[in-house]
This record gives sequence, C-alpha cells and structure tokens, in this order.
Amino acid sequence: MNTTHLLLSANSRHHSNDTSGNCSTIPAMSLYELLSVLPSQLQTHVDSADDRTFLHAMFRERSLHSLIKIHERLQQYEECCPTPVLDRATSLAQGVSRELQATSLNAEVKELLKLLSNPYMESLLSVHDTVAQKTYEPQLPPLPDDIDDDEDSVKIIRLVKSKEPLGATIKRDEHTGAVTIARILRGGAADRSGLIHVGDELKEVNGIPVDDKQPEDIIHILAQSQGAITFKVVPGMQQESPAKEPKMYVRALFDYNPEEDKAIPCKEAGLAFRKGDILQVMCQDDVTWWQAKHDGHTSGRAGLIPSKHFQESVLQLSFSLIVSLLFSPPASFRRSFRLSRRDRKTNKSMYECKKSDRYDTADVATYEEVTTYRRAPTEKHRLVLLVGPTGVGLNELKKKLLISDPQHFSVTVPHTSRQKRNQESDGVEYHFISKHLFEADIQNNKFIEYGEFKGNYYGTSLDSIRSVLAKNKVCLLDVQPHTLKHLRTVEFKPYVVFLKPPPVEHLRETRKNAKFLSGKDDKGSAKPFTEEDFMEMINTAQQMENQYGHLFDKVIVNDDLSAAFSALKVTLRKVELEAQWVPVGWTHS
Ligand code: 5GP
Repeated sequence: MNTTHLLLSANSRHHSNDTSGNCSTIPAMSLYELLSVLPSQLQTHVDSADDRTFLHAMFRERSLHSLIKIHERLQQYEECCPTPVLDRATSLAQGVSRELQATSLNAEVKELLKLLSNPYMESLLSVHDTVAQKTYEPQLPPLPDDIDDDEDSVKIIRLVKSKEPLGATIKRDEHTGAVTIARILRGGAADRSGLIHVGDELKEVNGIPVDDKQPEDIIHILAQSQGAITFKVVPGMQQESPAKEPKMYVRALFDYNPEEDKAIPCKEAGLAFRKGDILQVMCQDDVTWWQAKHDGHTSGRAGLIPSKHFQESVLQLSFSLIVSLLFSPPASFRRSFRLSRRDRKTNKSMYECKKSDRYDTADVATYEEVTTYRRAPTEKHRLVLLVGPTGVGLNELKKKLLISDPQHFSVTVPHTSRQKRNQESDGVEYHFISKHLFEADIQNNKFIEYGEFKGNYYGTSLDSIRSVLAKNKVCLLDVQPHTLKHLRTVEFKPYVVFLKPPPVEHLRETRKNAKFLSGKDDKGSAKPFTEEDFMEMINTAQQMENQYGHLFDKVIVNDDLSAAFSALKVTLRKVELEAQWVPVGWTHS
C-alpha cells in the first residue's frame, strides 16, 4: 500500500520543469507553471538586485507553491463538477475495517487498518459525507404557487428551524388585531437572516392565518413546526436603524431572572444575570427593555433585560413600600466596628450620621456603566479595600500581605487625640493631634471613620491613604462596607475584596484553636470562637453581601487561611497587571 506513490504520480501531471516559456506562452500556462517561470524573468524586468533576491526568495517559498497547487487542484475539480460516488464513506470505512480484522493480518492489511482508524482520516471521511449528503444546505420546499398577484406588498419568508430560538418577539394590537414584530434580538436567527424587521405585520405562519390569533397561539404554532417555517408578512414602514454594535458595558447591580419576572413581554427572550456580571448593552431602542449579552459571549443572540429607567422605577416602588412599612429605623440594626471593637457605641464614620446610608437601597442600584482600566506604570496604585465580618480573618490576611512584601504593601497610620506614650513616635503608631484639631477635622470631613475610646478620639483620615499611595505603595485598608460608596472615587479607584466566611461546619473545623477579639467585652482580650460568633459572622456576611455585594470586585472565601492568602495575592497581582472593569467616570478625568 503506497500512498506516497499516489501523490507523486498526481503531482507529475501538473508539475512542469519547462522554464523555457516566453511571455507569449504565459496565457496558456497554469498558475503553477507561471510561478515556476517567474524567477527566470526577473533579470530582465527587475533592476534592483535587492528586489530580485527578495522576489526570488518569495517565488521559491514552499508554502506559496503548495497554496497554488491546492488552488489549481480545487479549480480543476470544480470544472469537472464532481459528484460523490457514495455519500456514506464513513460507514464504508468502518465496514472495511471490520471485515479486514477478521482476515489474516499481513503488513498491507495492517497499514490499511491503521490508516482507516487515523483520526484525521475519520474526520476527512466525515467531512466528505457531510458534503456528499449536502447536510449543510437545508432543502427548502418550493414556494407555494397560489400567492395572490395583487399581494405585491406581501413578503414570503422561509426560515429553517433549528434548536436556536427565532430571536424575535411579537405583539398584537388590541384594536385592529394586527400581529406585528415587536423586536428583533440582536445576533439572533431572525436578525442574522436580515429578512424580518420590527414593524412587519405577520399574516400567516405555515399557511395558517394569524390575524385572529393571540401571540401565545402563534408561538405554539412555531413550536410545533418542524424544518422550514414560512412566514407571510406585510413589511412595516418603520425600518430598523443599521445594526451597529454599541459599545456600552454595564455592571449589573442586581440579580435578574426573567423566569420570575411578571413584567417581561417574553420570558424566553430574557437574559438572566447575577449581581456583578458585566453585560454588553446591544440595543436601547425600547425604553423599557434593553437588549444585552454577557461580556465575552461573542456569539449568540442578545436577550432582554429591564432598562435602567424601568428597573429604577420598579425599585423605587418597592423601596417606598419598604420605607412606609418601617415606622422607624430598627434600633437593633447591628453594626460591627472593626477599628474600635472594644467600644462600638462610640464609633462613627463621617458619613454615618446620614440616615440614608442605613438604607442604601434608596440609591436604586440598577446598572453601572463600566469600562476597562489598566493602571499605567507611572500611575498611583489602586486603593485595596478589604471588607468582611468580624472574625473572618481580615487582619491576619492583611498582616500576612504586609510581611510578604513590606516594600510593596502598606497600611495607613491612624490619628488620635490621646497622649503619646513613652515608647511611641508620632507618625508611627499614630499621628498625635489635639482634641480640638481632631474635632475640627471631623467637621471638615477629613476622616473616613472615627471613634471615641476612653475619652479620646481615634480615626483614619483620607490624607493617611494619600500619603501611602504617594510612596508608590499598595494601600491595604479594611473598612465598614457603608464607607465603600464614599471611597469609590476616581482619585482612589478602589478595588474591593470581600472576605467571606465558609459554611459553619468549616468554620468549626478551621477555627477550632483560633481566638479573636470579639468586641463584646471592654478588656479586648482574645477569646475562642463560640457557636454564636460563627452564626453572627455568617449572618453579618450575608447581610453585607445583600446590601453591598454589587460593590465587591472580588469575593474570597476564607476557609483555609493559606489558600485564601494565595488567592488574595493572585488577585492583587492581577489588579496591578491586568485590565479591570471600573466605572466609566474613572477613566476620563
Ligand atoms: P490604644 O490607645 O490602646 O492605642 O487604642 C485604643 C483603641 O483605639 C483600640 O481599641 C484601637 O482598636 C482603637 N483604634 C485605633 N486606631 C483607630 C482608628 O483609626 N479608628 C478607630 N475608630 N479606632 C481606632
């Protein structure tokens, strides 16, 4: 069995070494022959020696020769109008293999068996069958002859049904009963066909008149039909604007499941997403329903999502209901203040007095327009904000990061109004300032948060962050989540990491021998975790996620400390090196 022999004999038919041809013979030459004679013509036609060398090299390039050979071979076959001898080469090859295996295996039989079981050969035969059976080219039945001549404004559209939905929604005018195309989903089957447009009036589906039908009945007809579907439509006046892909990206700030949405006109056309997902908005023509795709899903059709305006009105409505149900803010609304755990009641943040902070849903979080941002090497580092419930291990992770690379990571130095102790130095443990100055700074909103302990003020200032960033270091700051929205500024471009506790059974296992500062006693001594601490940690984490989850760039579960540390390091490295999604305002300042 000699396959190379076959190839060579085929080549010899086309390969000519005759380079004696002159220009007059060129038209009769094949492209391949022309390529062979070109080098000998260069001397007379190209003056520059450099150009000749270059062209010589190019014309001798093996890949060019192969390409031309393939081109010629294809052309030759096209001219012959080949028809397949059989259209089941794959099953023939399998049958041959079976028969051969039953015979005595001499060298040639073995070689043939090997050839037939080669994956490339199998793929080649399968492609052959696809082409031979023309399964790529669906057979459309002929158009009906009985179309009225006077229906010249009627369009007959034939689409082949696949598993993919049509990607169009319809609506029925209650007065006239007319069924029209309400929207075409970008990238869907209807959109790609270019045949159906918004505003087209649907007259018939597969010969069944639809004027008297409800949209659900029409959908039922579509669902029942197999293969080709014939639509009779009267083209609408309103033509869609050219489908240019708008480059608007948003971060979803809420979870959305069309299955549970009573307002969506067509649940099947909806796009489900989770809080934090990045969506590409493809079309905003409809004020209520936008069309969007998940970022990175290049193919496929767009789905319907509630528009910003519509979702805001839904949320506003539910928020006013909640507010009217609440007689007064619940006194038991729990806050845990990390920086002064010993005395929570005296802890404040500069924004805390504003009542609205307690109910951030008032901000009607819907979508945030985002864009990609990659920090230039000359720019300051992004501020790294760490958020999580007390006891989850935020401080340990922060310390581990600092120890791992003290030249790179740093933390802020707090301010206090208490007296400096002997072993302390100003600007190291604290910035020591007078009570009077501290109060003035509070008034001037200089603190992200502050608290009072034993008659003294303690607090973290915005300037203390600036001074870390000015040293070209990554500033690690653990904060209460309600401060996030105030720190999300173009100046700090914060990257927010939420540290989440694992399920309670893991907490019991991993925190068996751990101690923590519970903040429940004034002595501030570390204590072992109780079952109640675990439950509180999980509940607080859940509450934080529900209320502020849309502001978290990354969620890391602190199950095993070293695994969480590695995950955090990898994440922070990526923040420095890779492009990240940030609010649009952060990039054009
Ligand atoms: P000390 O006076 O012993 O250094 O600290 C007293 C308390 O002040 C500690 O519980 C410590 O956690 C708290 N503290 C230290 N820095 C800050 C800060 O920046 N903000 C708040 N609210 N408390 C702080």
